[in-house]
Amino acid sequence: MKEELLKLINLQAIDSEIAGFDHAIANHRTTIANREQSIADKEEAIVALKNRIELLNQKQRETRAEHEDAGARVKDRQNKMMQVQTSREHQALLKEIEDNKKLLKDTEDRILQFIEQIEQLEQEATELENLCAGERQLLAEEVDNVDKEVKRIEGAKKSVASRRDKEAATLEASHLKRYSMLLVKRDGLAVVAINESVCQGCYMTLPPQRVIEVRRADKLNLCPTCQRILYYPEEEDSADGA
Ligand SMILES: [Zn+2]
Repeated sequence: MKEELLKLINLQAIDSEIAGFDHAIANHRTTIANREQSIADKEEAIVALKNRIELLNQKQRETRAEHEDAGARVKDRQNKMMQVQTSREHQALLKEIEDNKKLLKDTEDRILQFIEQIEQLEQEATELENLCAGERQLLAEEVDNVDKEVKRIEGAKKSVASRRDKEAATLEASHLKRYSMLLVKRDGLAVVAINESVCQGCYMTLPPQRVIEVRRADKLNLCPTCQRILYYPEEEDSADGA
């Protein structure tokens, strides 16, 4: 049984190593995905800015038309002034001229405000576009690096995985089955040491009798709480660092 347990400890070490490779690959992929998201967010913000700019341009065009109409009305009423007969008509025309002059001033102010707002938004959009371009370039470089790194990790993983298959094949079928089930159900950790009577998988304290049995190792001992396969890490236990 001792030998079988050593094989299980060894297999766990290999599987943890493989999980480490997978974790490293996933981290690289997340880094890239985050960078892509950051660019996508900025692109979305640029589109929103451009929509606002377009809306302001539209308002500006409308206001300009309003401005020109007011100007035309001022001229028209001024011409009519020559032909008025009564003072009442004269007063009415004067009022219209005054109103339209106010409108001229008001629309002019609004046009200036639109121009100012548009300029500011265009500046923001340009800044974001520059940031985006920089980030896209960095991303392209990073994707290249990550592709290379992932390839390297996958190569290392492949060689460890083939070693794993050989090791696994030497185990008793029932042990391998239990181990494989635990590996899936217990988050990649099927075989754990005990330390000061505590299971290093679930950190529950074992009854003294169980600790003695684990130390004796003449059968497969499981943690009563998490069901993981337990071993006692003895100093001469070379499989510990395998
Ligand atoms: Zn446990």
